[in-house]
Amino acid sequence: MLQRRWPLLLCLLALAAPSALAQEAVSARLGSRPIPTAMPAGRRDLLLDKLVAAYPDFLAGHAGDALVWRDGTKTPVFDGRPAKTPAQLVETPDIEDVFAWRYPLADQPITTPAGDPGRVRPAALFTRMYGDCHAGQVTRNLVKVRWVDGTMLPFTRVNGADQALAAVVKDLAALGPAYRQYLTPSAGTYNCRAIAGTALTSMHAYGAAIDLNVRYSAYWEWSDKAAHGLATYKNQIPAAIIQAFERHGFIWGGRWADFDTMHFEYRPEIIAVARAGG
Ligand SMILES: [Zn+2]
Repeated sequence: MLQRRWPLLLCLLALAAPSALAQEAVSARLGSRPIPTAMPAGRRDLLLDKLVAAYPDFLAGHAGDALVWRDGTKTPVFDGRPAKTPAQLVETPDIEDVFAWRYPLADQPITTPAGDPGRVRPAALFTRMYGDCHAGQVTRNLVKVRWVDGTMLPFTRVNGADQALAAVVKDLAALGPAYRQYLTPSAGTYNCRAIAGTALTSMHAYGAAIDLNVRYSAYWEWSDKAAHGLATYKNQIPAAIIQAFERHGFIWGGRWADFDTMHFEYRPEIIAVARAGG
C-alpha cells in the first residue's frame, strides 16, 4: 500500500518545490528593506577603477556611467533604480551593485554576516567574460589545476583564474599538514548549473569557484534554523586558509548571510576594493 502513495507524494513535492525554493535565494536574515544603491560619482569612479584593473583582458576603462570593453562596446553601470531589496540586488543587479555590500577581509572578526558581498554577479559582466556553460562556452576555457592532494581540478583560464588558483595552492601547501583536512578532498569546481533552488548563475558555472572538504562546511540551508527561520551562523574554516585565497583574488562564501563556508570564488575586483578600505 505504501508504494501507491509515492507517486502522489512526489507530485506534491514537485509542485511545492519551485516557489518555496525560489524565495530562498536570499536568506530571511537580510529582510526586505531596500538598500540605497545609487552612489556619489567619486565613489563610483573609485570602484570602477578597481573593476577595470581586475579584468584587464576584457575592460578598457569607464566613461560617464558606462563600462568600456576592449572591443569598444559599452555597458551601463547603473540601471536607474536608487534602492533595491537584498533579493533584488542578487536577482536583478546592475554593474555597480557588485559593490553594494562591503566584503570584510579575513583579518577582521569572523562573525554572523550582515550582507551578501560577492553574491551580486551581473550576467552583463560575468557571462560576457566567462561564457554561458549551457552553450558550451565555458568548457573550452577549462584547464587542469593541481590541487593540494595532487588531484587535477578543472578551472577556467579566463582572467588568469587558473593561475590565481595555482598560487593559492602553493600558499595552502606551505601552511602544513594540520590544514590538509579542511582542503581535501575538494567538493568540486566547475559545475554547469544554477545555484540550488534558484535561477541564479553560480561562479561554479563559470569554472571560477572551488569548494573545500564538505565535512567541515557550513551552509545556510543545511544549518539548524532557529525560531525565526534563520540559519545559525557557524564556521570551522581557519583564517589562514581564507587569507591564502584572498591574497590571490578569491572571496570566501563564509562572509555571506547565506553562508557557504567551503566556497571560494575568483573575484579580484571585490578583494581590491576591500584592500582599499571599502
Ligand atoms: Zn561552491
